[in-house]
This record gives sequence, structure tokens and C-alpha cells, in this order.
Amino acid sequence: MDMDFSGKVAVITGGASGIGEACAREFAARGAGVAVVDRDVVKGERTAAALTSQGMTAAYFSADLTSAAQVERVIADVVSTLGGVDILVNNAGIQRYGTVTSLSEQEWDEVIDTNLKSAFLASKYAIPAMLRRGGGAIVITGSTQSVAALRNSAHYVVSKHGLLGLARAIAVDFGKQNIRANCVLPGAIDTPLLRWAASLDPQPDRVVEACDRMHIRGRMGQPEEVARVIAFLASDLASFITGAAIPVDGGLLVPAGGMAFQESGTGAAKV
Ligand code: NDP
Repeated sequence: MDMDFSGKVAVITGGASGIGEACAREFAARGAGVAVVDRDVVKGERTAAALTSQGMTAAYFSADLTSAAQVERVIADVVSTLGGVDILVNNAGIQRYGTVTSLSEQEWDEVIDTNLKSAFLASKYAIPAMLRRGGGAIVITGSTQSVAALRNSAHYVVSKHGLLGLARAIAVDFGKQNIRANCVLPGAIDTPLLRWAASLDPQPDRVVEACDRMHIRGRMGQPEEVARVIAFLASDLASFITGAAIPVDGGLLVPAGGMAFQESGTGAAKV
């Protein structure tokens, strides 16, 4: 029993960039046939081509994951192209900012649909394909904001809490049919999404430095560090782990009162 995925098919949503791209590399290098599902055609095709040029099995599938019709079609395409679905990594997502009072209904819907509804839809259409192969594993990219909240991110926080709920719901509904579902909770990870978020600030470098500082490890995570945990959770090595929330956060969630208090050296006095 190991992390060899030979003969398995892994569907990676948001597989063209960042954590998803690292997952595509990780699963393909471990023998899986990888379906890179993303709306970014250029990056998606490039990711799949980089893998196939190294002798791995991968294909790009274009879809807007907020569309039920497109998700149903794409899972059917994966099954006919790669032979089935054994692993689903629900990873596609966007980051946006706002509070409950500042957000428009449209902004709320965009984040909830992209981050949460997409994972529901991909699971809805992938699980029957998994059952036809005797079971499978789903890993969802949540966030530390699946169990905590940062300011000015109401819709994002709700979507990420919802994703942890989705993993738990799938785990209880399909556990006896040999489907496991787990959620990873990354801290700040150095991806195009994070760099875009930093660019919204007049001083992006200070945002990046703050992202480094706020983790116990003193730095942000790399996409590969999340992808390795996702691969572990999808593998038979994790056969008794389901419905779990696994932080991959460099210790971000650990300090009581946050790192600001810890770094001041007078945290206890301030609490
Ligand atoms: P990236 O933006 O680098 O990659 C996400 C990919 O998903 C992009 O290619 C994006 O396309 C695609 N995507 C977004 N919406 C859709 C859609 N509706 N249909 C199809 N594809 C879509 O982000 P990350 O790798 O940073 O993030 C991956 C996941 O990790 C997200 O769920 C994010 O919330 C989560 N996460 C990230 C953290 C971080 O610090 N980076 C921390 C914690 C969680 P496009 O570029 O067009 O949007």
C-alpha cells in the first residue's frame, strides 16, 4: 500500500494554476491519469502538455465549474477519454473581498457559486462514476477560513466553511460505499491567486511579507506542500481518514490571539 496511483484517474478542478497545477503534477508523477479541469484554456492546455511531454498521462478539459451542464459534460468526457474517475480534487476557487453589508448579491453569488457550488456539482457527477469503479476519494481545498475568519471576506469565509461541511456530508453519505471525503485547510500559499490578492494593495511586497510572518514557520507555503497532502489523503495510505479537516498551514491556526500578539512578546498582557 503506497502512493502509487497507477491505473487510477484523478480529476483536478482548477488544475491549470497554483495548488491545482501542483496536484496535477503530483498525481501524474505517481502514475495517475490526470484530468486538468479549468476555465483557463491557455494555462490548462500548457499544464497537461507539460505532463504528457514527460511521458505522463494527462488531458485538459475546459469548463466553467459553476455551470451544471458543463460539469456534467466534462465528467462524461473524462470518463470516455481516461476510462473513469477514482479521485476528485475539488480545488477551483477565487478570492474576493467584502463584508455582509458592502457585498452586492452578485458578488456573493459569484464566490459561493465558484467556490462551493462548483464542488457540489463536480461531486454530484463524479461520485456515480466512482461508484461504478468500486469507490474513490474526494479531497476538497478548503482554507484555514473553513474553521476561522479573516476580516472583509464574508462570502469567501462562508464558502470555505461550506466546503468543510460538504466533505463531511459526502463522508457520512457515501462512507459505506467506499468513498472517502476530506478537506485540506491551507494557510497562505504562494500562487497566482495570492499574488493577485497582494497586488490589490498599494504595497504588494508588504502584504507578501505579512503573509510570510503570520505563519509559525515564518514563511508562506508552496503549492507542492499542499499537493503532497492532498495526494496522501487520496491514497490508500489514508484509508481510515474521512470527513477530516487537515490543516496545511505552517501552524497559522495555532497561536491563541494570532501571531501579532506572539511577536510583540507581551501577548499574555494584552489578552
Ligand atoms: P489559482 O488562481 O492559482 O488557481 C485556481 C484555478 O481555478 C485558476 O486557474 C482559476 O481560473 C480556476 N477557476 C476559478 N474559477 C473557476 C471556474 N468557475 N471554472 C473553472 N475554473 C475556475 O488559485 P490557488 O491555487 O491559490 O487556489 C486554489 C484553491 O486553494 C482555491 O480554492 C483557494 O481558495 C484555495 N486556497 C488558496 C490559498 C492561497 O493562499 N493561495 C489559501 C487557502 C486556500 P482563473 O484564473 O480564470 O480564475
